[in-house]
Amino acid sequence: MAIDRGERSGFEVTEGQREAIEEAMRIIIEEDRDRGIDPLARFRCERCRRPEHLLGSVLYGDIRLCNLCATTFEVARISGRVRTCAQYVGGRRIRTMS
Ligand SMILES: [Zn+2]
Repeated sequence: MAIDRGERSGFEVTEGQREAIEEAMRIIIEEDRDRGIDPLARFRCERCRRPEHLLGSVLYGDIRLCNLCATTFEVARISGRVRTCAQYVGGRRIRTMS
């Protein structure tokens, strides 16, 4: 990653960074499929609170995100908008701890 060019503008991510994240998320889906994760299995995503596919979901510590929310989180993290998954999920956990 080229981060020392001195031209990082705020919260922007480059097209290349976004593509790399989306590619990584596609790989996670393929790996889950290869590992035999039930394509019909669902879980409640911590971010969007919807019953989403377990296949392709990502576990950050004890927080599980659906593939779409994980993609958005990775983009937010690389842009510096959030640092942790708990922050991204909405501060419910953070407030009780600090
Ligand atoms: Zn989600």
